[in-house]
Amino acid sequence: MTINRRLDPFTERLHRQPPQHGPVMLMYHAVLPTAQRPRWPWAVAFGHFVRQLDFLREQGYATPTVSELLADPARYTGRTALITFDDGYVDNLDAASALVHRGMRATWYVVSGSIGCAPQWPFDGRPDERLMDAAELHGLLEAGMEIGSHSVTHRRLTELDPESRRLELVDSKASLEQMLGTEVRSFAYPYGAFSDECARDVQRAGYRSACTTLPGWALRDRDAYQMRRLTVFNSDSISTLARKLSLGSHDVGWGHMARYAWRSLRTASA
Ligand SMILES: [Zn+2]
Repeated sequence: MTINRRLDPFTERLHRQPPQHGPVMLMYHAVLPTAQRPRWPWAVAFGHFVRQLDFLREQGYATPTVSELLADPARYTGRTALITFDDGYVDNLDAASALVHRGMRATWYVVSGSIGCAPQWPFDGRPDERLMDAAELHGLLEAGMEIGSHSVTHRRLTELDPESRRLELVDSKASLEQMLGTEVRSFAYPYGAFSDECARDVQRAGYRSACTTLPGWALRDRDAYQMRRLTVFNSDSISTLARKLSLGSHDVGWGHMARYAWRSLRTASA
């Protein structure tokens, strides 16, 4: 049985259409070694994650890192899904092995003030585990993955005074670069909180890009400092993921699909 048969007929027809709006970026956090659906909505079960990777691979998705995409966007006009992980949980090492095994790449946004220890920011329901340490992050780089910054302390940049915000950006970049021995080019806003001022500060700190948690096609705003991402929830079936990839949206429930089908029909018959 191929993975494709897991799609319902509507989704399969939708997903067969060529991509029209460029790459999508998927956002993951924890990937837990459990068969149950994790309680934290931002954590997915490992087996679930692997099925999603197999689907992407079988459907011919390119999975460049964020820097690879931005260095040569013209190369990624076909099906392209960027895989990103926020925070840097140690369970992500198994996820990385699954990616390597399939010849896929991803980008990690790590919190520089919590490297190798328990997250130092307020508890938000996340699993009880530490973040990856320096040696583990080196291993990811050697496997062709990208490491970006997710600030020093995981505070909302929009709530900080300009100097504190600058330090979150500059200090995390400098300490990660010193630790990893390579340029850190990419940033992800903690909690997705950003403003035009934040985006300017990210650029001033020397990053080449930043991603938000606004849903949509990754480059919809044509602004490397406001890239959009789609959250992969632990309740998403393969069909749900396929509709997210096809439509660049979180709004892929059947109510939305009925309206989408109706609009397409009207456009086709107009
Ligand atoms: Zn985060």
